[in-house]
Amino acid sequence: MTRLARILLTSAALCAAAISSPARAELDVIKLKAAIEASVEADYPKLDALYKDIHAHPEIAFQEVKTAAKLAAEMRALGFEVTEKIGKTGVVAIYRNGDGPTIMVRTELDALPMEEKTGLSYASRDKTNWNGQDTFVAHSCGHDIHMASWVGAAKTLLGLKDQWHGTLMFIAQPAEETVSGAKAMLADGLFTRFKKPDFGFALHDGAFAYGSITYRIGIGSSNSDSLQITFHGRGGHGAAPQRTVDPVMIAARFVVDLQSVISREKDPTEFGVVSIGAIHGGTAENIIPDDVLLRGTIRTFKPEVRAKMLAGIERTAKAAAAMSDAPAPDIKITEGAKAVMNDPAVVETAAKVLKIAFGDDFRTSPPGTPSEDFSEFVNAGVPSMFFNIGVYEPERVAAAYNGTGPQLPSNHSPQFAPVPKPTIETGVEAMTLAVLSAFDQYAKGK
Ligand SMILES: [Zn+2]
Ligand SMILES: [Zn+2]
Repeated sequence: MTRLARILLTSAALCAAAISSPARAELDVIKLKAAIEASVEADYPKLDALYKDIHAHPEIAFQEVKTAAKLAAEMRALGFEVTEKIGKTGVVAIYRNGDGPTIMVRTELDALPMEEKTGLSYASRDKTNWNGQDTFVAHSCGHDIHMASWVGAAKTLLGLKDQWHGTLMFIAQPAEETVSGAKAMLADGLFTRFKKPDFGFALHDGAFAYGSITYRIGIGSSNSDSLQITFHGRGGHGAAPQRTVDPVMIAARFVVDLQSVISREKDPTEFGVVSIGAIHGGTAENIIPDDVLLRGTIRTFKPEVRAKMLAGIERTAKAAAAMSDAPAPDIKITEGAKAVMNDPAVVETAAKVLKIAFGDDFRTSPPGTPSEDFSEFVNAGVPSMFFNIGVYEPERVAAAYNGTGPQLPSNHSPQFAPVPKPTIETGVEAMTLAVLSAFDQYAKGK
């Protein structure tokens, strides 16, 4: 236990003691937290080995065969009934412990097509083939932290099985980064071959202090749409542009004008982002190409903002082409993940317990602008809570915040390097307490 955790526990215990009889439940949380901490501490060497093994050997969306097998083996060893290959590489692990609700806990399995540059002793040097190209693979989103926390929470909940009744449904989902794994598991009968859970939980790590947990009621992550536009021109000699229609210039104009949809058309108080992440056109300095392809991402929270932005993007693209007397562009907008909506009742129940356990280190935060296909499970009718845990030394986070230290690498950075022990321990503790809160609330409501 860290010194800070000990102080928090002591002060929370004092608070609980100072309040008269209704504070009994709070005392239980303190005892539970101590029991959970002891359990995690004892299990940690195994969790650390699992984490570092998964970190060093990451696998990309729908290729997570070895990763899935490792998790399946861990859960079988704990006594879970395990089914593999749900939604291609997904894992479903069930543990029944009497009558009660079914509670789902999700982890992701996949890593990213990028090179890790952390210099850690357990850094990944693995490569794979993705979309026809060789690429490095790295767990730069921290899904390996989630997997270790997931196994740790399962083990801890089994150790506390006199505290709850019902069914644990631990699922390991493929392809979160391509926002397609949750859909694949649902299409493969996740909620029909297995029981649809009564509640769901998931966590994600982020570039803030370890030991801290952030949460939200309502919108938890953004809607994501991907954008692909091909501008058609008429290629020719770079020295004779008058005989061409230049799609590079059309694309350049579009990339700049596009941002006026955000700054001039969208309500400035509403969240909306569009970023162009890839431009492909041309082969040589003196050839004007026929076509230029752009790819981008569109992020919003609200459907009406999304509709306004999609219409603005399309109009701006057509106008950019029309200005050069070019043919209309091909515009393809593919719907990705929907925003994760956290269920107010599930969050409030868990928040009461987590606030006692973590004090000021458990706090609300604005909605996250990344997207998450955990929303697929929520939209399939599972009231859920999605929360975040920090990964860096609090001192480094404070220094970055004050401007006295460097900015810390975020998820998807090649330098993203969580501090494993405190991060995983917080993940296990918070997830275990959140699940216990839902079992407890359900039992009280009967
Ligand atoms: Zn990610
Ligand atoms: Zn992620």
